[in-house]
Amino acid sequence: MSTKRAVRAVVFTDLDATLLDHDSYDWSAAQDALEALKSRGVPVCLCTSKTVAEVRALRRALGNRAPFATENGSIVAVPDGYFEGEFANDSEAEETLTCTTLGAPYDRLRRLVVDLRARHGFDYTGFGDMSVADVMAATGLDREAAAAARQRDASEPLLWQDSAAAETAFAQAVAEAGATTRRGGRFVHVLGLADKGDALDWLRTRFEAVHGPILAVALGDSANDADMLAAADIGWWVARPDGDYEAPAGGHIRHAEGIGPVGWSAAIHAMIEAGEI
Ligand SMILES: [Mg+2]
Repeated sequence: MSTKRAVRAVVFTDLDATLLDHDSYDWSAAQDALEALKSRGVPVCLCTSKTVAEVRALRRALGNRAPFATENGSIVAVPDGYFEGEFANDSEAEETLTCTTLGAPYDRLRRLVVDLRARHGFDYTGFGDMSVADVMAATGLDREAAAAARQRDASEPLLWQDSAAAETAFAQAVAEAGATTRRGGRFVHVLGLADKGDALDWLRTRFEAVHGPILAVALGDSANDADMLAAADIGWWVARPDGDYEAPAGGHIRHAEGIGPVGWSAAIHAMIEAGEI
């Protein structure tokens, strides 16, 4: 059974420290808001630095069947049939995904980091050099999560073991090769030029081709979400664990009252009360 429903709003959200609690990865504070969106037929598209394999597991736990973006917008994934009206939103059926690379394919990035290490003598260890046990040791993830994190499609995390000066030289060499680097908490990530804003634009085009104009709402907590919030019609910063916000509010950018999933829930309820979604 499929019902044709006009999509008025689509939510695009970061995961870590936004929908998921920074420490516990728990989203229970946002559960009522997620249910309110589901009852209104508002899709929630996850946009994260995680891999497709990691997001598949999380979507199952969340009961989420919407398209999503991984590896910081490098990959967009659409369940087969989603935009063709053959899609049952709460189906338990196994789904197949069509993934599109907006950034650069992993093989090319992996060749680049191996080549730059050999040519310049940089000292780093990439996920492609590590076993699942090595990734577990480097990240603190359990075996299943480490195996999923190791299934890269479009970015290579490097455990940086060289100087800050070498990191600057490395970033320049990567830029000259048409890719980019991003400093995360534990790793230096090497990836193509797409960001979460590009992923939102790509998914918006797909939604609008079927449903007409949408209201794109984006929620995030940190620098790698800024492009996504800028590309949205309404962008929300949730507060970070220390209570501060990544950037000021203004224009279509707002501050949600609360940290992580508490702020997420407050933002959704504020829009519902205002009649925006
Ligand atoms: Mg985050």
